[in-house]
Amino acid sequence: MIPYGRQSIDQSDIDAVVEVLKSDFITTGPKIAEFEQAVCAFTGAKFAVAVSSGTAALHCAMFAAGIKPGDEVIVTPMTFAASSNAILYCGGTPVFADVIPGTLLIDPAQVARKITGNTKAVVAVDYAGQPCDYDALKDICSKHGLVLISDACHSMGGGYKGRKVGTLADMTVLSFHPVKHITTGEGGMILTDNADFAGKMRMFRGHGITTDYRQREEKGSWFYEMVDLGYNYRITDFQCALGISQLKKLPGWIERRQQIAEEYDSAFKSNSSIVPISKSPEVSHAYHLYVVRIEKAGRNNIFTRLRNAGIGVNVHYIPVHLHPYYRNKLGTGEGLCPVAEEAYGHIISLPIFPGIGDKDIKHIVETIKQEVEL
Ligand SMILES: *Cc1c(COP(=O)(O)O)cnc(C)c1O
Repeated sequence: MIPYGRQSIDQSDIDAVVEVLKSDFITTGPKIAEFEQAVCAFTGAKFAVAVSSGTAALHCAMFAAGIKPGDEVIVTPMTFAASSNAILYCGGTPVFADVIPGTLLIDPAQVARKITGNTKAVVAVDYAGQPCDYDALKDICSKHGLVLISDACHSMGGGYKGRKVGTLADMTVLSFHPVKHITTGEGGMILTDNADFAGKMRMFRGHGITTDYRQREEKGSWFYEMVDLGYNYRITDFQCALGISQLKKLPGWIERRQQIAEEYDSAFKSNSSIVPISKSPEVSHAYHLYVVRIEKAGRNNIFTRLRNAGIGVNVHYIPVHLHPYYRNKLGTGEGLCPVAEEAYGHIISLPIFPGIGDKDIKHIVETIKQEVEL
């Protein structure tokens, strides 16, 4: 089975991890800050906070944004449930704003319509790897005093109007799960230019305590204070060593992803049954996913036939507001976000990752073209 996404690990990655395993600190050591600084240098963000997963990073961002019971946070339904679950972790209420039909990115006009006196923040997801319309979203957020959070778990290494992902919102969330652009096994990070947000998130990842173990060692002090209810969202030093090593290869991997997408684009150009979701000319697309709409032929049939042919296609995503938990908890359901719901019936994600072979891509293109004709 050709998977839809997969990590690339080489000997230099393995060596970097082994070196840390032989050192004094395997967690809360020097590699954490080194990884954070490396991602700051890569993206141009001022501060970075590395944590144990992308989901933990979203929770940290919600905490820093001050989300509390009674607060509303506007979010896209076309995402992994974690983007919205983080709002619930803080007792906030997710409010779903529909997407733009071509790109399936959150529609700024729909965001504006959903704002009430209780709205505190907006979570924009760079679906498939394409940054949202951040100029429009920023305008709306600054007008209403809302915190803009970018869930960039799909778009690390991408850009918008010449600016890099990591600098486009008040806080930007990354995931280092193996299917994402770079991996630490499990891991995540929040990028921000706001020192206050960064300080709050550092505390939140370590139980809400003002210093960490290593800082106390350096000061020769046992004293610490717990000032907020935090979590253990720490990431280990050997994971960060892997992240540092992976980051060096990211520019080449993004190029390769873009090249694969171009090959798919040109293969489907004259095929009215396989329609790639559209791309704005203002973005540099990081292509975490390559998503097409299946027209005419049924998507579910195509999915089964491609899986049977050894092609690990997937569907991203079941709109979050249609999950049973959300239906039961918030009373959401069909009709709330008609554009996302319609798209969900047609979309399929084709394999895309740096290590995929040209022969595999040809095989995928030929097979899907054949199957839609049946
Ligand atoms: C992967 C992903 C997450 C969660 O990241 P984890 O590291 O798996 O916790 C959140 N949002 C989006 C859009 C993702 O793709």
